[in-house]
Amino acid sequence: MITIALSKGRIFEETTPLLAAAGITALEDPESSRKLILPTNREDVRLIIVRATDVPTYVQYGAADLGIAGKDVLNEHGGDGLYQPLDLEIARCKMMVAVREDFDYFGSIRRGARLKVVTKYVKTAREHFADKGMHVDLIKLYGSMELGPLVGLADAIVDLVSTGGTLRANNLKAVEEVGNISSRLIVNQASLKLKRNLLQPIMDDFSRAVAGKRKSGN
Ligand code: ATP
Ligand code: MG
Repeated sequence: MITIALSKGRIFEETTPLLAAAGITALEDPESSRKLILPTNREDVRLIIVRATDVPTYVQYGAADLGIAGKDVLNEHGGDGLYQPLDLEIARCKMMVAVREDFDYFGSIRRGARLKVVTKYVKTAREHFADKGMHVDLIKLYGSMELGPLVGLADAIVDLVSTGGTLRANNLKAVEEVGNISSRLIVNQASLKLKRNLLQPIMDDFSRAVAGKRKSGN
């Protein structure tokens, strides 16, 4: 049996065509089903539906053989026990630093001000500002980071941005790129050894599907 850990929403949607390329179809829609274990058309493959941030944990401990997780989530997790063979090039966006429209981010940095930053991505943010030699105070939030600078909790946020619509709607502006984000296939290292005959064909089908999509310009 192969268990694949996925999260609902955009990852599930964007993964469906990749699964199809490997001959795997979920028998129920996770958006409407309350089931957390979804059978597929293949008797030897099942999907488990978990929070996006929990996907690496299930795969790390071997409760799932495969998983699909954003690079944002993988960087926070650290990647222990995970093999990351393939960038699936889905759920693409950028990790950005953003501030209020009227805030002079680069001026504050030049003056050596110690910025307060809210984020769900504490490790990523810590690494980013350390690389820049900046001292910041990080405050962990679990969502709606955009609110932080508006109510005086912070000067800046570190968050994912795709269209920038949420930033604009809250009078924030992106000022600095932290990195490009997309979702990766992750594999439990022991599973890869013990179930290679089942896993390798799925990995190869995913890989061909990604290459095909790239050729057709996404
Ligand atoms: P919730 O938003 O319900 O708290 P979540 O943030 O854990 O849940 P999603 O928002 O579905 O879950 O994000 C899952 C993954 O999708 C993220 O880890 C990231 O890799 C990617 N992602 C998040 N936001 C965007 C976006 N705006 N555009 C593209 N990909 C994104
Ligand atoms: Mg989200």
